[in-house]
Amino acid sequence: MSERIEAPLIAFYSALKDAHGLQHWWPAESAFETIIGAILAQNVSWTGAYKAVCALKEAGLMDPHLLFQAGEYTIAPLIRSSRYYNQKAGKIMVFLSWFLENCDGEISKMASLPCLKVRRELLTLSGFGPETVDSILLYALEKPVFVADAYTRRIGSRQGWFEENITYTRMQEFFMDRLPSDVSLYNDFHAQIVYLGNRICKKNPNCSACPVRDTGIIQCRYAHNH
Ligand code: SF4
Repeated sequence: MSERIEAPLIAFYSALKDAHGLQHWWPAESAFETIIGAILAQNVSWTGAYKAVCALKEAGLMDPHLLFQAGEYTIAPLIRSSRYYNQKAGKIMVFLSWFLENCDGEISKMASLPCLKVRRELLTLSGFGPETVDSILLYALEKPVFVADAYTRRIGSRQGWFEENITYTRMQEFFMDRLPSDVSLYNDFHAQIVYLGNRICKKNPNCSACPVRDTGIIQCRYAHNH
């Protein structure tokens, strides 16, 4: 195993996986659907995003060329359940323009480009922040890029790993500097954090039900101090 592995982080992940099982992210029939799902999932529950994904599929539009031809005024009402649907229809069109121009609408071409180049270019697109872009890289293209989010920030700061006002980049580096570069591990690690943040480590945390309150190797600083 890589010498970069930090045992407490692995213990943290193992405790979550043992308690909650593998999360099997990302639930989609294709990498393209995963990308559209990642855009639709911005600032909304997965249930709302999933309904929008299903609506696009039912309309026969889960295809880059057909979706682009349909245009944002056709897409917007179909994805209403994802909230901010006008903005998201626009973001889908922005992504499709880039995808069709640079990859001919083919995921294999996108995946064959250097990961850092794709990351850099997607980050220049309007409405594409690091969480969305890294979700695309990890879950659609299967690149070893750790996804951080608001749950990661809350849980990591409560655990005592970093301060709550840490930047996205530093937060991502915290994990990537300590974990092996492993797509499956990054995939489920982020999913476990989302599960924990969504159900247990909420704004008012339910520490008595938390599998990572005390694993023997790690103790949560917040739980210890409250
Ligand atoms: S012990 Fe409490 S504060 Fe710490 S991660 Fe679990 S729920 Fe959050």
